[in-house]
Amino acid sequence: MSTETLFAPPPPVTAAIVGHRARFPVHRIYCVGRNYEEHAKEMGFTGREPPFFFLKPADALVPLEAGQTGSIPYPSLTKNLHHEIELVVAIGRGGRDIPAADALSHVYGFAVGLDMTRRDLQNDMKKQGRPWCIGKAFDQSAPMGPIQPADGVGDITRASISLTVNGQLRQRSTIDKLIWNIAETIEHLSAAWTLQPGDLIFTGTPEGVGAVVPGDLLVGSIDGLATLAVRIDGA
Ligand code: MN
Repeated sequence: MSTETLFAPPPPVTAAIVGHRARFPVHRIYCVGRNYEEHAKEMGFTGREPPFFFLKPADALVPLEAGQTGSIPYPSLTKNLHHEIELVVAIGRGGRDIPAADALSHVYGFAVGLDMTRRDLQNDMKKQGRPWCIGKAFDQSAPMGPIQPADGVGDITRASISLTVNGQLRQRSTIDKLIWNIAETIEHLSAAWTLQPGDLIFTGTPEGVGAVVPGDLLVGSIDGLATLAVRIDGA
């Protein structure tokens, strides 16, 4: 079989790892919807429902180095670009039908991520019962800081998570407020897809989502992880 390709294959998507020269090769980006109660409420939903998932393409990732302030363009088509600060789980060992009790052994590490969202387009699609892709899976929609290996993090479930925009606090919560915790999320996700090393899971955002405009500086923090700083480029 020929290994020649018609044109150059896309370069691999990789993320920085704190304290390592080697980089984390990214396979897929899974995202969990409405996984904090107060955010579900602000989006008009109440009650615990089974977790649901969507994906972003791996090359939507904007991987940042420790200490770097990155930038993303203000995307096309939208007039309502929203920030969603999220804990990202990096999978180091794959598997399917992983029970929650074993799930944390599949985790390589954690990072701070932003699930940037074209909210107006997402809402249009929701209303029509159509897929969310255009609202969620656009180019450069997933800025993420370097991955901190899990053994250096301590108890992530007790961490606080927050986002400021131009120094003003917009989102603040704690990881223990996840409706479906990390282990339960991996159990549900691995029942639907075979997880692979290199998969990233954006675990959902707490309340306080809102719009950003060109020039805004977003700074996301989770205790124990490298801070994520991203500027929205001018139009
Ligand atoms: Mn999200």
